[in-house]
Amino acid sequence: MSGIDRLPIVTETKKRVSKHAPKLADSLKWMGPFRSLVHARSGPLTSELLREPGQFGLGQTPKGFVPEHVTTMVCGYCSTGCGLRILLKESEAVSLTPSTEYPVNLGMACPKGWEALTALDAPDRATVPLLKDASGTLQETNWDTAMTIMVERIRDVQKEHGPDSVAFLSTGQIATEEMALLGAVAKFGLGIRHGDGNTRQCMATAATAYKQSFGFDAPPFTYADFEESDCLVFVGANPCLAHPIMWERVMRNRRNPDIIVLDPRRTETAMNATLHLPVLPKSDQSLLYGITRILIERGWYDAEFVERHTNGFEEYREFLQSFTLERVTTETGLTAKQIETFAERIHARERVSFWWTMGVNQSYQGTRTAQAIINLALITGNIGRPGTGANSITGQCNAMGSRLFSNTTSLLGGHDFASPIDRAKVAEILDIDESRIPTDSGWAYNEIIDGIRDGQIKALWVIATNPAHSWIDQNAFSELIGNLDFLVVQDMYHSTETAVRADLLLPAAAWGEKEGTFINSERRLGVLKKVRKAPGQALSDYNIFRLVAEYAGLGEMFADWESPAAAFQILKQISAGQFCDFSGIKDFRAIDEAGGIQWPYSEVDANFGEPVTERRLFADGRFVFPDGRARILFDEPKPPSEPTSPEYPLTLLTGRGSASQWHTQTRTSKSAVLRRLYPQHQYVEMHPDDARSIGIRPQQSVFVESVRGKLKARAVLTLTIPQGQVFIPMHENTTNQLTKAVFDPHSKQPSYKSCAVRIRPAE
Ligand code: SF4
Repeated sequence: MSGIDRLPIVTETKKRVSKHAPKLADSLKWMGPFRSLVHARSGPLTSELLREPGQFGLGQTPKGFVPEHVTTMVCGYCSTGCGLRILLKESEAVSLTPSTEYPVNLGMACPKGWEALTALDAPDRATVPLLKDASGTLQETNWDTAMTIMVERIRDVQKEHGPDSVAFLSTGQIATEEMALLGAVAKFGLGIRHGDGNTRQCMATAATAYKQSFGFDAPPFTYADFEESDCLVFVGANPCLAHPIMWERVMRNRRNPDIIVLDPRRTETAMNATLHLPVLPKSDQSLLYGITRILIERGWYDAEFVERHTNGFEEYREFLQSFTLERVTTETGLTAKQIETFAERIHARERVSFWWTMGVNQSYQGTRTAQAIINLALITGNIGRPGTGANSITGQCNAMGSRLFSNTTSLLGGHDFASPIDRAKVAEILDIDESRIPTDSGWAYNEIIDGIRDGQIKALWVIATNPAHSWIDQNAFSELIGNLDFLVVQDMYHSTETAVRADLLLPAAAWGEKEGTFINSERRLGVLKKVRKAPGQALSDYNIFRLVAEYAGLGEMFADWESPAAAFQILKQISAGQFCDFSGIKDFRAIDEAGGIQWPYSEVDANFGEPVTERRLFADGRFVFPDGRARILFDEPKPPSEPTSPEYPLTLLTGRGSASQWHTQTRTSKSAVLRRLYPQHQYVEMHPDDARSIGIRPQQSVFVESVRGKLKARAVLTLTIPQGQVFIPMHENTTNQLTKAVFDPHSKQPSYKSCAVRIRPAE
């Protein structure tokens, strides 16, 4: 083990348990509309349902149970970044409750958070390294053999096929310090130029849009904006289901706000809107251009802000001329009245905030759509003030960490691989030869997949992600990984669709079994702690990366990265002077005690005192470009990437199915409680008239087919989906057999949200 020890278990005592620790039932009481959906889909949440034999979980701490200690950490599922109080007995986490003091969730948690510990106890945890033998069977081995073979095989492939024939695919689920160490070991140590993360699948569009418009990937908001807004516009976002605690913050808004939802479906969020605009799939860009034209034409914009703080307004005004009401009604399927009402409501309210997520990001024209939202916020002066902003909600618990520190799309700390100044700065801090830093960011995820197809990528290292389930056009991907000479999968489970294909499986510790930081959607650094022992021989991802470095003879190069806490100090230095500067944060303890700290928080900021709880960006109207001005960027909308046809007459939309499911369900499927909160079978939502015309009854078994593949599902007939469209949740492993591998040209994010399908009875 070369001196790399397992981390000590947390023993810190923070507080005795409050007598008023929240219960799940309280959380559900707060989650009004969200709860009604859970009930509708899953039956009532009785205490019977919440109980797991022999397990505390879900606030069902038995009467008389007295924890020895309580510590706090952030949840490891979504980007909301809720604070959890972990109840410890004999230094091991036995239960949890949401933290009442954490500024993010204010005592609430969604079912995933309540059940976060359950995923650690699953029987299919990877506990020992596994190596494929000559017959193709994975056999147990030890870390010494695993590391020796991994390094040898990577070197052999590089020698035979060139240094760029090895790539890695990482994740937004591991700690910032871990993803930074991976990026540094892989790119500066092993000479692996091509590496990307699964954040390409969810957040690349938002990151690209912000960089191009603001000069830095900088979501400007703070969660208090949910409560301080007069008008909240949600574009392609369903926070009621996907971000239930953020939705609860909306429900706490006392300003009687307008809630405007742009979504083809009548989602749970749309049901609670004051105005739902059921746009045709992928026509949101036209709608946003159309209402911006109306606002400008009527003089309903902030001319002073535009003049002082933006570039490109006149060109935009000219471009928008063609987005007449007639054109926009045709392209969006909305009425002129709906479009005018939208513009009027934006004009009428003082504080308008715009929120978007996957409905925008996962599109072949996502970047320009996101920028149409950003432009709207800029032109109406809705940025930098309470209750405003062009606000991207991220997906995974550490998507923001990945965007800034994974060393993939940008050089560590949001620096630029192409900049000699940035490379010199990072090389000096890391005390490495500058020539070790590549001069470009390497291939994006889809280009790595293309590289496997072309035979240019021969070895792949997959960390804490499950592309055999989640990557677009799954059948093609599944075939491609068979072409690899060497596939290493590093995961907490040995059973994922990707792990079972591995030549070498490295068992990884999970959230709760290691330490580090996450950065949430509002740029808040939060702390994770080791409150459980990892099972068997599983190691933290951090220690696995250190082992790889040691076995590759790079131990000295990474000697300063001796622990996540040490890595945090390195990352502080790297962030200094950047827009995401957090050099003023002392250490993990300081983050914990402050209830999380939002970047930026520089050493200079620290001189002025403790960080305030909620901070938003651009209050001074100064953006990150040298001239301080935001860029107004736009493009002509494109036709659907796969239009419907007589053979495939329906448009397929995909998305989250329930608040109890997470992505490919590797963790949420482990909880009996969560399983009872979501449907157990693949289903397809369709309009009753469409079903009638094909002769399909409710709950009938059907085949859904695209040009690329087919799946079997139960038909759920509902008026929440418009005629001509169908919806399938993304969580089942068959959904991506239908989707088409199309990408946004700027962000290279996959367009999961629309493709053409047909449906026929399965019997
Ligand atoms: Fe965890 Fe997200 Fe649920 Fe909060 S909303 S408890 S961060 S999964």
